Amino acid sequence: MTLRPLNIDPSKCFIAGVWADPLSGKTLPLLNPSDGSLLCQIARGGADDIAMAVQAAEKALSGDWGKATAAERGRMLAKIGRAVLEHVDELAQLEATDVGKPLKQARADVLALARYLEFYGGAADKVHGETIPYLDGYTVYTLREPHGVTGHIIPWNYPMQIIGRSVGAALAMGNACVLKPAEEACLTALAFGEIARAAGLPDGALNVVPGLGAEAGAALAVHKGVRHISFTGSVGVGKLIQQSAGANVVPVTLELGGKSPQVVFDDADIAAALPFLVNAGIQNAGQTCSASSRILVQRGVYDQVVTEMAARYAQLRAGPALADLDVGPLVSQRQKEIVEGFLTKAGDLKIAAQGQIVGSAPTGGAYVVPTLFADVSPHHTLAQDEIFGPVQVIIPFEDESEAIAIANGTDFGLVAACWSENGARQMRMARALRAGQVFINNYGAGGGVELPFGGTGLSGHGREKGFEALYGFSLLKTVAALHH
Ligand code: NAD
Repeated sequence: MTLRPLNIDPSKCFIAGVWADPLSGKTLPLLNPSDGSLLCQIARGGADDIAMAVQAAEKALSGDWGKATAAERGRMLAKIGRAVLEHVDELAQLEATDVGKPLKQARADVLALARYLEFYGGAADKVHGETIPYLDGYTVYTLREPHGVTGHIIPWNYPMQIIGRSVGAALAMGNACVLKPAEEACLTALAFGEIARAAGLPDGALNVVPGLGAEAGAALAVHKGVRHISFTGSVGVGKLIQQSAGANVVPVTLELGGKSPQVVFDDADIAAALPFLVNAGIQNAGQTCSASSRILVQRGVYDQVVTEMAARYAQLRAGPALADLDVGPLVSQRQKEIVEGFLTKAGDLKIAAQGQIVGSAPTGGAYVVPTLFADVSPHHTLAQDEIFGPVQVIIPFEDESEAIAIANGTDFGLVAACWSENGARQMRMARALRAGQVFINNYGAGGGVELPFGGTGLSGHGREKGFEALYGFSLLKTVAALHH
């Protein structure tokens, strides 16, 4: 792996536009999930580094960045987006190596990051307040202002995409950001800081502090200078973040996990559904908050769907990220152990099919065999809990009301899909499914940056992506002027 073209120093924090040693002087090993080897040492940032980063962000707000007009911010984001595209190959290689995802998936993530920046660059000067008719003698209007310093705590599964949707939107609205990437995968976050600086983003508008969640992450979540927190990750940590934000009474966006169902009715176009049914479960080795880990199938087409999904699973090959196969390793040995724990809990559940780990996969890699279970009870652990690995369960159902009860029968509510050719049923299901987004005869709609995204229940709250993110990353101020 070469870091040179991207000009980053992973053993340091990126604060106020320069590489700064963590004040503790400590580093952490970063491992390659494809073979278990040491990739490099990364900075073990802590509370002092976070404090410096918040200070740098405050300085940016009182300086050039705070004074930039909406149009100038938009142009800046568009420029950073173009710079990202100039580095597409290096960034894809870095993300694939660090996260363990197949190269083509990492490349799609870089393109998504560039697209977020293009979208938020174009949107920056199109968010405005309104005038409100009121009592005689008053002029009332609203302003959309930045919160100030925003904190971004992100996970390891889609660093670039999540930076695009949260940091991109926050910068568009004129905030200054402190980004705490995950300790398992932080290299592209650091590279993004450097790319943005080189493109002209004022120093301190974006600061990146790698480190452990309980240290750097917790320090960011409780820092009184942080006016908004965006968190993506596990439910347990999300609850902690909400508590910290509550103590300082700052808004928080939580994007947590899911147990997202795809519901396939007898009248569905099965051939069209099949690639979505499988890909939505195994993309990024299933380590996706919106992974579709439950496939609900009506009895009339049940055997057909099980057989055809099984045939696809039997073809799946898992191997090193840069070999660019269907499935890469999981991000870490810890994540592999979590997923294997679920496979153990499967007990005597019926395995419909499994893929294979290719012979050339190094023994030190965090590989898990892609596994499809059929005839699973909706109450089984594998049908209730987020697995975050290349594992899907198929659950049979009789009719629409049973499908709705099963689909809504978990603590999560992130994504759901309905496959049916019946227009009235599509509309009923869109309303009945408890989820932040419902897809009809597709899954994910190609990940469009324009589409607001977020959950309900344990999947979290608040929306990122689309214009909704811009509203979330701004403070609505009402001005009422009395004039005679
Ligand atoms: P995590 O929630 O522990 O980590 C996510 C981010 O939060 C990382 O940057 C981490 O350093 C930080 N963090 C951890 N503890 C913190 C704390 N006390 N205060 C502040 N920040 C903290 O997630 P994980 O351990 O990497 O993964 C565990 C499980 O979480 C997975 O198996 C999966 O179920 C879920 N997960 C979900 C998503 C998602 O996209 N929704 C992403 C990653 C993991």
